[in-house]
Amino acid sequence: MRNYDVIVCGGGPSGVSAAISAGRKGMKVLLFDKMNSLGGMWTNGFVCPLFDVEQDTPIINELVDELKDSNNWGGFIGKSFNFEFMKYYLENKCIDAGVDILYDTVFSNISKIDGGWKVILNNVDGIVDYNCKICIDATGDAVVADKAGAKWNIGETDYTQCQAMTLMFLIGNIPEGYTSMKNCYNELVIAYENAGMNIDKIPFKVPYIIRIPNTNFAVVQLTHMYGYNPLDAASKTKAVIEGRRQIIEVFSTLKNYNPIFKDIEIISSAPLLGVRESRRIVGEYEITVQDAINGSKFADKTGECHFNMDVHDASGGDQHCTQIKRFDIPFRSFIPIGLENFLVVGRCISGDHKAMAAYRVTGDCSAMGDCAGNAAANAIIKNKSLRDITPDELH
Ligand SMILES: Cc1cc2nc3c(=O)[nH]c(=O)nc-3n(C[C@H](O)[C@H](O)[C@H](O)COP(=O)(O)OP(=O)(O)OC[C@H]3O[C@@H](n4cnc5c(N)ncnc54)[C@H](O)[C@@H]3O)c2cc1C
Repeated sequence: MRNYDVIVCGGGPSGVSAAISAGRKGMKVLLFDKMNSLGGMWTNGFVCPLFDVEQDTPIINELVDELKDSNNWGGFIGKSFNFEFMKYYLENKCIDAGVDILYDTVFSNISKIDGGWKVILNNVDGIVDYNCKICIDATGDAVVADKAGAKWNIGETDYTQCQAMTLMFLIGNIPEGYTSMKNCYNELVIAYENAGMNIDKIPFKVPYIIRIPNTNFAVVQLTHMYGYNPLDAASKTKAVIEGRRQIIEVFSTLKNYNPIFKDIEIISSAPLLGVRESRRIVGEYEITVQDAINGSKFADKTGECHFNMDVHDASGGDQHCTQIKRFDIPFRSFIPIGLENFLVVGRCISGDHKAMAAYRVTGDCSAMGDCAGNAAANAIIKNKSLRDITPDELH
C-alpha cells in the first residue's frame, strides 16, 4: 500500500499542470499515464499550436520561456513548439516539484476509503493499490470520475454528435513556403485531380500543415473520422485503423501527384488518437454556450477562455468557428456533484457540448490543472472541503 496526498490520473496539459502545482506546494503527488511521456495531446497527440497560451500561469510562462530559449517555439501565430522538448521540460518540472511519475500505467479502479480514495493501477508491477486524500481525474475521458460514481453527459444527447476524431501525423522534407501553418486543401485538390481521384475523398476541408519551429518537419491535421464511439474500445480501434488508412492515402496522393510535395517523407502517425470530445462530468456548475457568448465572469475564476467555439463537424468534413466573448472558467465546474475529495480537470469538466468546443484548448486545460493543484494542496493543508476553497486559494 502506498500513500499520497494527491493522485493525478493522466499527464496531459491539465494533469501535468495539476501535479506540478500541487507538488510545488509541498504535497506528496503521484502522476501516472498510460504512455511513456508526459503532455497528452501536446506531445503524444502531435497537437500544435498552444492555443490560449495567454493564460498568465507560472507553468505556461515557464514552458514558453524554456521553449523560446532553446529555439523550439514560434511558427504559426508564434505559438507552435517542438513536442520532444515539451516532453523533456514537463518531466523536469515534475521531478523538480518532487512528483512521483509512473509511466506505462493504466487506471484500473477506484473506491472510497476513510478520508480519501483507493486508486487501483495496472502496470508491470501487477495490480497495485495507492491511497490518496484527493484524486484528480485528468484523463480527458473522465474514466476515473465515472468509476467513482460521477454523473456525466456526452454530445448533445449521445456520442454520435461528438466532434470528428483526428489521427495527427508527422511528415519531413516539407516544401519551401510552408514556414508556419498552412491550409493545404487547394494543393490536395490538385493532387487528387492529377491522380484521377474524386476530391470528395479528401477527409477534411480545412487541413493544415503545421511546421515544427526551426525544423523541416511538420505535424498535419488532415484526417477526420466520424460516428465512432470514444467510450467503446472496439469502436476507437476502428477509428485509429480508418485514420491510418486516410493518412497513407492522402500522403501517397500528395507526394506522387503534386510536384510541390514530391520530396515529403512520412515519419509517424501520432501515438494517441485525437478525440476532441467524450464524457463531460455533471459538476457543481455547468459552463454553457450562453456563458461563452455573454462573456460570463465568476468569483471562482480559474482561467479565462479566449478561444473560439471551434467545432469539427460530426460528419461532412467541415469545421466551424464561432467568436466568443472571453469568459471565466469556474472552479465549481471541476467538482463532480455528489463526490468529496475529487476533482476533474481538462476537456471533461462540467460544461455543455458547445461551450467545451472553446475551453478544450490546451492553454485553458493547463490553467485548470494549475488551479486544481493549488486547490487540492490548500484543502489538505487547511483541512477543509474542496467546496470551501476561496478564490485566492486557487492561484
Ligand atoms: C486532433 C486534435 C487537434 C487539436 N488541436 C489543438 C491545437 O492546435 N491547440 C490546442 O491548444 N488544442 C488543440 N486540441 C485540443 C486539446 O488537444 C485537448 O482538448 C487537450 O489536450 C485536452 O487536455 P486534457 O489534459 O484534458 O487531456 P489529454 O491531452 O487528452 O491528456 C489525457 C492524458 O491522460 C492519459 N490517460 C487517459 N486515459 C488513461 C488511463 N485510463 N490510464 C492512464 N492514463 C490515461 C492519456 O495518455 C493522456 O496523456 C486538439 C485536439 C484534437 C483531438
